[in-house]
Amino acid sequence: MKRGSCSKTILTALAMLLVGSPCTYAQSSRLWVVTGDNVAAAAQRSLASRQSVADDLVVPTFQVINRMSVADIAERDLDNFSNWMHSACPHCGGFTVHASREAALKEVDNPAYKPGFRYLAPLPETLDQQSTVSRALDRVKGDKILSTITMLQGFGTRHFQTHKGQEAAEFVRREWASLGQERPDFTVALLSHDWVQNSVIGTIRGASRPNEVVVIGAHIDSINSRNKENAKENAPGADDDASGVAVVTEALRVLMETGFKPQRTIQFMAYSAEEVGLLGSANIADSYATESKEGPQVIAVLQFDMTGFIPSRDARDIYLVNDYTSPELNGFLTKLLKEYNHSGAHAITHGETKCGYACSDHASWTRNGIRAAFPFEAPLGGSNPHIHTSEDVVSKLDATKAARFAKLAIEFLIETTKGVDGRESYRN
Ligand SMILES: [Zn+2]
Repeated sequence: MKRGSCSKTILTALAMLLVGSPCTYAQSSRLWVVTGDNVAAAAQRSLASRQSVADDLVVPTFQVINRMSVADIAERDLDNFSNWMHSACPHCGGFTVHASREAALKEVDNPAYKPGFRYLAPLPETLDQQSTVSRALDRVKGDKILSTITMLQGFGTRHFQTHKGQEAAEFVRREWASLGQERPDFTVALLSHDWVQNSVIGTIRGASRPNEVVVIGAHIDSINSRNKENAKENAPGADDDASGVAVVTEALRVLMETGFKPQRTIQFMAYSAEEVGLLGSANIADSYATESKEGPQVIAVLQFDMTGFIPSRDARDIYLVNDYTSPELNGFLTKLLKEYNHSGAHAITHGETKCGYACSDHASWTRNGIRAAFPFEAPLGGSNPHIHTSEDVVSKLDATKAARFAKLAIEFLIETTKGVDGRESYRN
């Protein structure tokens, strides 16, 4: 997504990440949204049933191109459009937002979605951190994850245009800062956007290959699209997506507790404004994508969005999303699950599922030609039915399930950044 120009070189981006700086967009009255082609069909259905979306929002007219749908809406209708999509098409994935028709059409024809797309930075081939990984896995605690979810749910809402949403971002910054306070190689900062809620980015600077970056992330905002009066209110968002932020926080906590020192740079991200077009993650991923080959390269990105709900049927622990993600990175995750989770105390069962275009923040990285993956809680259609309502609360979630996502996150970070267990190397 680009509204007005907001690209900056990654070095300044990284610098800005460390200090936090506003990213301003040109205010334009019309925006172009890109969605999966199933949304155009949902729009037709809404139109046919004469069901208007909301008083002041007419269902947009979509043009279907390359199995995607393109439409323009008024900028002020972004929230309403998001509510319509969530209610009229809950399993249609999400949408991206563009400043012009040209930019939207460029997205529809994006080479990163074509089979055989080649990523710039190489992915490590061997798994060789067994002792470090198994020591770390023993330290994962489900109750820590539940307590983070409970704290985030306690804000009542984390909508991207509310002060409560910003307070939640500041809470996460404080939590991460306290987890890494002993470490001079760790920094955490708020990244401001042209809306109320900031994103949060924590960074462990790589010891020998700082220009190679591995990211894990989740979104910090929440929404209650069932609440027609005001989608900003009463949006606890426990599973969507406090559970993802809690998994990222637990991975950070365990790496700090074990004194893990990565060779490559690790970034922990809590994105703002995912519910209304992946705005926060798009802002960040775009900044990385504009970087030259000499600058920091993002090797791989893992997204956590909904990790705590046990589906009623075919209840495996983790489902690797296989559309709009990197097949190579899904292969790497499968290798990790075989190596570390085939049985015993850290056993994890897994399968695959589809999720639809732009269904979470991994899509902002995929769109920019950066390999990303998204382990999800359920097969398509079997996920938490309470999301985007006041019923998405922690009492409906399972800590052991969410802890399994934290274990996969830790295996992924240790094996892609190749640290040694820091106690020896770091402390002496
Ligand atoms: Zn979500």
